[in-house]
Amino acid sequence: MIAVAKPLERLASELSKLPGIGPKSAMRLAYHLLYSPQEQSTALAEAILSMKERIKFCPVCFNFADGDSCPICQDERRDPSTICVVESPSDIVPLERMGRYKGLYHVLHGTIKPTQGVGPDELRISELMSRLQEGKVTEVIMATNPNVEGETTAMYLCRLITPLGIRVSRLARGLPFGADLEYADDVTIGQAFEGRQDL
Ligand SMILES: [Zn+2]
Repeated sequence: MIAVAKPLERLASELSKLPGIGPKSAMRLAYHLLYSPQEQSTALAEAILSMKERIKFCPVCFNFADGDSCPICQDERRDPSTICVVESPSDIVPLERMGRYKGLYHVLHGTIKPTQGVGPDELRISELMSRLQEGKVTEVIMATNPNVEGETTAMYLCRLITPLGIRVSRLARGLPFGADLEYADDVTIGQAFEGRQDL
């Protein structure tokens, strides 16, 4: 082990646990913070702590929220007749960046994975069904990822929702199979969205 002052080594070790940060980058970032003004480190440390303390799940759609419901559920210009179902809060980011969707969301927090013991009860499915039973929704768009688990979950939900007389659609196949929605580019997402098909 190279001789580095303990606090520096401790910070680098924590930073290297972040995705995409290897040991070298971690040490470079640690040195960067060491040489930067004190306020910068204080602001970073406080931002991390405040995020962990204040961010909760929106009680309506289970997106992340600061306070009661999330900014999307609170926005009265959003169309309450459409709900787009996604696996995780980070999937909302590319769909919002696309800018064409004006409805609401519902975050499942995972997909059905029978092999790993994740069944429908582990996901926010009963909460979705309660929202649909209020009778305002006319279309549910399945935007689960285009992989086996995503497809299985979309089909499972389709079987639950169709008897309620609600249209269920799925993002078109423009998204490469096995790709993550989170990393798809705006044009591909836009096309998949416009070309969505009924399930
Ligand atoms: Zn919400």
